[in-house]
Amino acid sequence: MTAHLAPVVRDALLPTTHSWLEKPPLEPFIDGAFRAARSEDRIAVVDPGSGLTVTEFTAASAQDVEDAVSAARTAFDDGRWSELDPEIREEKLRRLADLLEADADTVTQLEALDTGKPLAEARLDIREAVAVLRYYAGWATKVEGSVIPAPRRFYATATREPIGVCAAITPWNYPLPILMYKLAPALACGNTFVAKPSEQTVLSTAYFAQLCAAAGIPDGVVNIVPGAGATGAALTSTPGIDKIAFTGSTRTGQAVMRAAADTLTKVTLELGGKSPQLVFADADLDAAIDGVMGGIWTNAGQVCIAGSRLIIDRRIHDDFVAELLNRTRQLTLGHGLASATTLGPLISSTQRDRVTSLLEQAATENADIQTASALPDADGFFVSPTVVTGVRPGHTIEREEVFGPVLSVLAFDGEDEALRLANSSAYGLASSVWSKDASRVHRVARRLQAGTVWVNTYGVFHPTLPFGGVKASGFGRELGSAAVDHYTELKTTVIDL
Ligand code: NDP
Repeated sequence: MTAHLAPVVRDALLPTTHSWLEKPPLEPFIDGAFRAARSEDRIAVVDPGSGLTVTEFTAASAQDVEDAVSAARTAFDDGRWSELDPEIREEKLRRLADLLEADADTVTQLEALDTGKPLAEARLDIREAVAVLRYYAGWATKVEGSVIPAPRRFYATATREPIGVCAAITPWNYPLPILMYKLAPALACGNTFVAKPSEQTVLSTAYFAQLCAAAGIPDGVVNIVPGAGATGAALTSTPGIDKIAFTGSTRTGQAVMRAAADTLTKVTLELGGKSPQLVFADADLDAAIDGVMGGIWTNAGQVCIAGSRLIIDRRIHDDFVAELLNRTRQLTLGHGLASATTLGPLISSTQRDRVTSLLEQAATENADIQTASALPDADGFFVSPTVVTGVRPGHTIEREEVFGPVLSVLAFDGEDEALRLANSSAYGLASSVWSKDASRVHRVARRLQAGTVWVNTYGVFHPTLPFGGVKASGFGRELGSAAVDHYTELKTTVIDL
């Protein structure tokens, strides 16, 4: 099928990206090969910046999922990956990272086209994916056990063993980095893997499958089943999986957990958020404005850690919001592949309509809605960056995860009220404190109910830093050494001396 590309895309694409898109391998990748999906369910790959259907693929059926799990099971049970010397696993994962880095320009373009995000953001995503792979490649040779001081008659050890077959269900906002948060530690620890990318962003995951083969990852160790919710549901209920790592909405996370109960499969869930950014009057306000903007406009607000609630000292509220709007007006809304774009479209018309309807609801609740820029003259799924002031606890826009470029502003009088507002959310993924007062920073950070607290910064991610939520934002940690615990099982061995 010839790819349908908007003029802006055709002009921007490298020959390598263009030719890959002419015949993208979007079939299920099972046991080291792409094979035709056994279903009739066709899914469009849509460019969010133009609304054009770039190409189509067939969703993996329940039978395809079974085959993928069975290939991963066989690859685990025969030890072709877990029994390799750890330094060989390290070497192969490093090779995979090198291949991804070498093709970064092409993968960046695919990611920008598929998600709608600006090229500069897509480039950072691919860099992060490479960094996460390299970090966990190093872990392959560093997962150690311990000798236990049991009674002297016995020699006892606790060693970390791979879990088995690990499944990942990933969303559309950061397709490749979120896949790497799961795949890299799973493979480093000796597990095998089955992934289902979001139906809305399958391109970079398919590209990555090709690289796995080229890097010499043995057949069956990495398997990919592209498809929609039904494919994800099939994956969560197929026997033979030992662990599921999910990133997405709280509602789907609950469905995943219910399905996992039937097969007693371990689950880690990274669900959404409604993260507060607390700005105190003694903060470096210039830096705080930039930080708050980065926290909410990045990826057009479609970020689990989006700092979507600005909780600000009433005394600086008006000036801060005015300057934030001024700076926001300087953003350029447009197609992700246009070089001037700094803010892209939303992923789909459904997501745009969801965001728009939440804004309409906010208007009926008497909040004050200020849009910062006009929509571009294009058919993409654009929403203007929007600041909503006059928000009060209980307003829908204050409670619901919007997943769009919408910042809700709440004013506080005093530290206790700031914390009450911040912690009133059902979610607890991330948060930030902006203040120059070191004692206040420690007091507030300690009391914030969130998996991450950033102080005088926002959105710092690094392979070494554990990431995950509390409350309705899920449980389990990705990244850092914490993830190694989630992809290994402790085995106690006792020898009678
Ligand atoms: P979902 O939670 O539905 O999607 C996340 C992943 O789960 C996708 O791969 C999806 O497949 C898959 N999935 C869907 N249904 C099932 C199921 N029954 N069993 C197993 N897997 C399933 O999110 P949406 O895409 O519908 O987005 C809705 C809202 O979720 C957003 O507005 C946002 O609030 C939140 N969200 C949060 C994310 C985060 O980073 N925490 C990421 C994405 C969304 P498919 O996409 O193909 O349907």
